[in-house]
Amino acid sequence: MTDNAVRFVDVKNITRWAAQQGVEHIVVGMIDYIEADFRRWPIFDKCARIGSHSDVGVIELMPTSDGQEYGFKYVNGHPSNPASGHQTVTAFGVLADVATGYPTFWAEMTVLTALRTAATSAMVAKHLARPDSATLALIGNGTQSEFQALAMRAALGINSLRIWDTDPAAMAKFIRNAKPLGFDVYVATSAHDAVRGADIITTSTADKASATILTANMIEPGMHINAIGGDCPGKTELDAAILTMGDVFVEFPEQTRIEGEIQQMPADFPITELWRVFTNEAAGRTSPDQVTIFDSVGFAIEDFAALRYLRDAVDGTGDYALVDLIANPSDPKNLFGLVADARVPVLSGGA
Ligand code: NAD
Repeated sequence: MTDNAVRFVDVKNITRWAAQQGVEHIVVGMIDYIEADFRRWPIFDKCARIGSHSDVGVIELMPTSDGQEYGFKYVNGHPSNPASGHQTVTAFGVLADVATGYPTFWAEMTVLTALRTAATSAMVAKHLARPDSATLALIGNGTQSEFQALAMRAALGINSLRIWDTDPAAMAKFIRNAKPLGFDVYVATSAHDAVRGADIITTSTADKASATILTANMIEPGMHINAIGGDCPGKTELDAAILTMGDVFVEFPEQTRIEGEIQQMPADFPITELWRVFTNEAAGRTSPDQVTIFDSVGFAIEDFAALRYLRDAVDGTGDYALVDLIANPSDPKNLFGLVADARVPVLSGGA
């Protein structure tokens, strides 16, 4: 192992760490990291993520840097994957030292993405939802759903859930997971039934289509909508009319205008950047009756913050391994020497 060994958190380590720490505890800590990075938004290198699209999904790279550290996430989105036993979203990510360009930290990010997406939803809801919010409607009960529910409980104390999914097996799975966690779960008969009387609605459905999971007639005054499933060109969840019923808040407008719900709207459709709300440069919720909409697509700075949080949290624990990822010749110009030294001697002579 060289001095440049990279710390690596694999699936076994992250699941053990998450089980030991508890999702709610992690979400609270991660919100602090993500919010801190949103507050220093202008210093980051930012670009819309780079997507490679196919008929069935997308593979994306999400890079950013704060000038000291660089990070990226590799992530896919394949809504039809569960039908063949694969997940819709999988990911891994890296942190690197800007001074040398050397990677320092490498992690699985399928679990970490669920944690960071839940932490981001809860962070935004803390700022935008009505402070007396008590009920969460969860439309789409797949991979992200339990994490989303736990994050809202950790940040806002919400224990009452109204759930809906077109797949009864997904709802049954959610109930199996949520009941032992002490949630009070109402199993709805439709999306409309689920959102009735809810204070916050989270849509986390997956369909590579312009879907209308929610229509304008379902939206009540004062609701906060957290739309996380529409995150790709041609993949939306909200009827466009909903976007004119309230105020729309986004991560990075250049990415959200391509990928978010607002792809349905004209290019100059008014939005508010979340970081400006966190730095008090823009208003968030201004009245109890206001409808607030988080048009979430997932941005690189959230992954950067999540990687930093995980790296710091596992420091000094046994929840990571060291991997020899970077070749490290003692003479930095003699990379060939490493190959030469590794040659297996060929035995000569003998009969
Ligand atoms: P998943 O495939 O595990 O779950 C999606 C669920 O949505 C499934 O159970 C499916 O049956 C249900 N569904 C599909 N159409 C529906 C409909 N019309 N009404 C109700 N339910 C419906 O996917 P996941 O990993 O939970 O991700 C959910 C969505 O969130 C995906 O679209 C994913 O791309 C997106 N996502 C966004 C972010 C973000 O930061 N915004 C992060 C991660 C995932």
